Amino acid sequence: MTLASWVESANGDTDFPVQNLPYGVFDAGLGPRCGVAIGDQILDMTEVELGFEPELFSEPAWNRVMEAGPALWADLRAKLTEVLSDESYRERVAPCLVPQQGVKMHLPFRVAEYTDFYAGKHHATNVGTMFRGAENALPPNWLSIPIGYNGRASSVVVSGTPVHRPLGQLKGPDDDLPRFGPSQRFDIELEMGAVVGQPSSGLVSVAQAEEMIFGYVLLNDWSARDIQSWEYQPLGPFQAKATATTISPWIVTAAALEPFRAEAPPRERPVLPYLRQEGPGLYDIALEVAIASAGRDETVIARTNMRELYWSAAQQLAHHASSGCPMRVGDLLGSGTISGPTRDSRGSLLELSWGGKEPVEIGGGQSRSFIEDNDTLILRGQAQGDGYWVGFGPCTGTVLPAAPLPDWAKE
Ligand code: MN
Repeated sequence: MTLASWVESANGDTDFPVQNLPYGVFDAGLGPRCGVAIGDQILDMTEVELGFEPELFSEPAWNRVMEAGPALWADLRAKLTEVLSDESYRERVAPCLVPQQGVKMHLPFRVAEYTDFYAGKHHATNVGTMFRGAENALPPNWLSIPIGYNGRASSVVVSGTPVHRPLGQLKGPDDDLPRFGPSQRFDIELEMGAVVGQPSSGLVSVAQAEEMIFGYVLLNDWSARDIQSWEYQPLGPFQAKATATTISPWIVTAAALEPFRAEAPPRERPVLPYLRQEGPGLYDIALEVAIASAGRDETVIARTNMRELYWSAAQQLAHHASSGCPMRVGDLLGSGTISGPTRDSRGSLLELSWGGKEPVEIGGGQSRSFIEDNDTLILRGQAQGDGYWVGFGPCTGTVLPAAPLPDWAKE
C-alpha cells in the first residue's frame, strides 16, 4: 500500500507527498528558515524537535546538513518519514507546520560554485546544426567527454526572481562591426541541477560521485543567443549565460528519486573507465516548459524527460574532479538542456523555433521565436510513482525590460 501522511493535503494531487520530503528555505514573516515541504504545508525545522543537532538547521541553508554526510541524510529522511506518516506524532509535530501559501522562498543552499554541462545529445545536435551545420553538429569530443563550462554561482537565483533582459555585445552575420545593446534573442534552457553534498580532492569514481550528490533541482539556464553566437569561440559561453540561472526552491533528494532510476541511452563509443557507470544513472522525470505572456494563461510549449540526457550527474561530477579540481559542498551542476527527439520535446526556444525561423504558438493568437519582455517562463518536473508523484515545485521567472543604456555606453 502507498505510504500516506496525516497531513491530508500530502495524500492528494501534490508535488510533495510523504515520499518526497524536499528541503527548502522559507520565510513566513519571521526570517528565512530551513523547512521540509509536505502537501501544502512546510515543516519548520527550527521548531520541530526530532533529535538532531539544532546547529544543522540554525542557518537558512541546507549546507550544514549536506556537510554532515550521507549517513545523516539517511537518518534525517527516515525520521521525517516516520513523524509525518505515523499518526501518533501528529499532536507534537502539527504545531510546527506552516502553510506554503504566502511564504517567500529563498535559495535552498549557499551555492558554492556553479558549472553547466551540455549532456543532452538532441540539444547538442540541434544547436550544433544551427551554429555550424549538420556535418559538424556534434563536436568530435562530445561522445567521449561530458562537456561543460564554469559558470557563476553569483548568478543563481531562486524561482520567482525577475530577470532583466541582458545587455551585451551583438553582431549579426551581415554586420561589419558589433554593437552594444539589449539581447534580441533571449532564451531559456530546461535543465536539471545536481546539488553536490560532499567535497572531494583528487579523482573520484562514478560510484563515489553518486554518493556525493545530495539532490536535484529544476534549473533554467537563461541564455542570450545573440551574445552567445558572437562570443562563444574559442572559450565557450561567457556573458551569454551570466545574467541569471533560476533554480526551483526545493531540493528533491537523491533518496526520494531512487525509485525512478532510468538507463541512459546506449553508447556509440567506448566510455573510458573513469567515466563508466554501473546501473542506471538517470531518472525518469517528466519535464515541461510553459510560457505566459503578460496577463495571459500559460501554454505548455515543450514536454520531455530527464532520461533524454546522455551523461549522468555522477559522470559529470567524476569528470569535473578528474583533473584534481576540488569539488565543494554546495556546488551546483547544470545538466545541459534536455531536449527529446521530437519538435515538441525541445528544451529551448532556440530549438523550438529553429533559430527563429519557425515561431512557436503560445495561445491567444500569439507566437514566440524568443522571449519578449514581461513573459513568464515556467519549468515543471514530476516523477510518477504508484499512487503519488514526486514533484519539484515550479521554477519560474519573468523577464523584465533591459536596464536603460547610459549615455557613456551609447555610440
Ligand atoms: Mn545550459
